Parts: sequence; C-alpha cells; structure tokens
Amino acid sequence: MRAKGSFKIWMLMFMIILIMTGCTSQNQNSEQHSSLENKTESVTEKESNSSEEETAQDTEESSEIAEEIVTESDTTMEETTAMMQTGPTAPEAPIVNSVRLMAVGDNLMHLSNTMSAKQPDGSFDFTYHFQHVAPIIQQADIAVVNQECVMGGIELGIQTYPCFNTVYEVGRDLVKAGFNVILAANNHILDQGETGLQNMIRYWKTNYPDIPVLGIHDTEEDSKTIPVIEKNGIRIAMLNYTYDTNLKNGIEEKPYLVEYLEEDKIESDIKKAKEMADFIIVFPHWGEEYNDTPTPEVQELAKKMADWGADLIIGAHPHVIEPVEWIPRANDKPTLVYYSLGNFQSEQFRTEQMLGGLADVTIIKDENGDTYVLNHAMEYLVTHYQLTIPDLGYYNIVTTYPWEQYSPELAAAPHGIISKDPTFSYEKLDQIRTNMMSRCQ
Ligand SMILES: [Zn+2]
Repeated sequence: MRAKGSFKIWMLMFMIILIMTGCTSQNQNSEQHSSLENKTESVTEKESNSSEEETAQDTEESSEIAEEIVTESDTTMEETTAMMQTGPTAPEAPIVNSVRLMAVGDNLMHLSNTMSAKQPDGSFDFTYHFQHVAPIIQQADIAVVNQECVMGGIELGIQTYPCFNTVYEVGRDLVKAGFNVILAANNHILDQGETGLQNMIRYWKTNYPDIPVLGIHDTEEDSKTIPVIEKNGIRIAMLNYTYDTNLKNGIEEKPYLVEYLEEDKIESDIKKAKEMADFIIVFPHWGEEYNDTPTPEVQELAKKMADWGADLIIGAHPHVIEPVEWIPRANDKPTLVYYSLGNFQSEQFRTEQMLGGLADVTIIKDENGDTYVLNHAMEYLVTHYQLTIPDLGYYNIVTTYPWEQYSPELAAAPHGIISKDPTFSYEKLDQIRTNMMSRCQ
C-alpha cells in the first residue's frame, strides 16, 4: 500500500509537470524525469525508515500532499480541459517520454458550415468556427480531426447533404487552430467521386506535406504504407477505416482509394504496425447513427482490434457521443476505446448532435520501453449555429465552444437548432453531458 501511495504521488507530480510544461521535447522530459525520480526517492526513503506510528503520519502527510497536488492540478485543468482519469496501468518504471494526443469527432460541413465562412470578397475564412477550441487543441502534441466530408474545392461547388463538398480553406484553418492529423476515411469521402478525393489529397500534399491525411490514397503505392508519427521519442501508428462509402464512384477500378473496415486488412495492418511503432491507434468510422450506445458488432470488433494489438481506439460516425471504456487484454495492457466522439461541428437537427467529445489522452513510454496510456479525459464541446441576418438562406454564425464557455444565455441567443428541435435548451445539453459522464470509464 505504501509503495502504491508514493507511486501515486510520483504520478501526480509527473502530471503537474506535464501540465505546467505542456509535454514538450525529449530533453525536457528527461529533465522532468530526473527531478521526479529525486522526489520519489526521498518519499520512499522516508517511508522505509519510519516506525509504524511515523508511517501512519507519513501516509497522512502523503495523502495531504496528494490532495494538494490534485487540487492544484484541478485548478490548472479547469482552465484548459476536463479532469484527467488515471488509467488502469500505473507506470512500472520511470517515465522517459510522453505525448498528449487530442481528437475530436465529425467536422460535418453542411451548407451553413461552409457558407458562414464566406467573406464579402468571395474568399473563405473559418477562423471563427474553430477559435474557441483552438487554445485547447494547441496544447496537444498530436491533434486529430475527422473531416467528415470531402474538401473537393470551390471548383466542384459547395454541396450539402446528401452529397457534401467543401472548400480547401477549411483545411488551412483547421491547421491554424492546431490540428495536425486529418481523418478522411468516412462514408462521405467519395461524395464527389474520385475527383473530389484527388483534389483533397493534392491540396494537403501541396500545402501541408507534413500533415498526415489518413484513410485515403491517391495511388496504390501510397496505400501500402503504414502511417507512423514520431513525437517526443514515441512512434505512433495511426490507422483509419470506414465501414462503407455512400457512393462508390471509381472504387471498383481503384480499390486503394479508401481504407474500408475489413477485418483481414485491419489485422494485417496492425501486425505490420507493431513492427514499426511503439503504440497503435485505430480510428474506425463505424456504428449506428444517432445511437449513443455502441452496437454489439462494434463492441465485438473493438475487442478483436484490441487483441490484434490496437492500444487506443477512437471512433466516429454516429453523430452523438458514445461511452468510453477499457478493454482488458490477456497478454497486454488494456486498450482504451472512445466508441464515438459525436460531432465536432455540424448543422444537424437534434440537441444530442450539438454535443461533441474531445478525447484527451496522455501516452507514456517508460524506461522498460513499454508504451501505454497514463491518463485520459473527455472534454465536452457544443456546436452553436445562429441566424443574425434575416432570410439569408443559411446560418451565418457557426462555431464550436468548449462546454465551460457555453452558457444558458448563448443557448437562448437563440441557437438555430430550436426551429428543428424545440426541446433544445442548455439544461437538456447538460443532462445529456452528465448522463454520458456517468457512462464513461
Ligand atoms: Zn459518417
């Protein structure tokens, strides 16, 4: 118990330092590690030399210190993101590297999402759309967004449901907000055929060659590589698949264009990834739309992915948040699963679809070379859209707020969703959020 107590303090101290420094370079992490080690040693020494009475006192002191740390950590985190939950795996050796990964759900670009960015001179600027979440996103080493529609460019026209298309500038402004990994395997990616997909890939390769766009490929050659990102000395493989595409234009002739959720392919990709990476993340586009509970098929596939070697699974597509859970593994540390993060931004029609999740995960590598999740959180986000220019034909204000910045006043501004879902209110959003928090591990 004592060892566990000092371990806890050690971990909490590590978390504080992570928060204060923002988990930066390998060198900085090594320095953090050595100062942490000193603190841990002094606590351990003190405990081992104590008599029973002293030990009791020390334990009390330790828990006081821990409480202080938790309080301090709480305050810092409130300013930034939700409270971190400690994962089931305590570090088995000193921590040498860490990566803070964040992910958001579907950036589903209806007419209002794109048109509200249009400027008087005809250009597009999405800065306002992402500016409230940008300060959080920018704290991540890796920030992932699911671009739930093709960015085929203005030359293909701005299109809304059912065959979406948006402009390239959304990519530029997602990057400006801090996102540096784009998920593209989703059911709308072939809405504009191969042309839309190729336009999107060309835009990213030309303008942001260092930003991985996952789950789609312009050539067969490109489809043979396993994407691995190295950050702070941790190699992370990232795999993205979709259950299907609504349209299949061109896919018969070129099956490599989109990564589909096929079990044999996933298993073989994960096995290849294990040779190349310390940690494997799968981003499946899966599940049942508008269902806040993962289907039995999704749960079964998550278990299989975990057994094949996925360490973290972050799902998208249902447009509502689904719970977070740990899947135990016989011969490895448990796998963390966010079944669905809901919508990041959309112009959908129900209160539930306005509430999105932001996964915040700290991945660590210890001195034994093991890499696993130290802690995780879910921040809640609210899509707000509003009409302030009568008869415009689309909502001219569209943005996403962190939960802490949303308010009853904003909800009553009024949120444009009220015309589609009259039951919408701040209180209802809060109920859905509180209920989901109780269902997340
Ligand atoms: Zn989808």
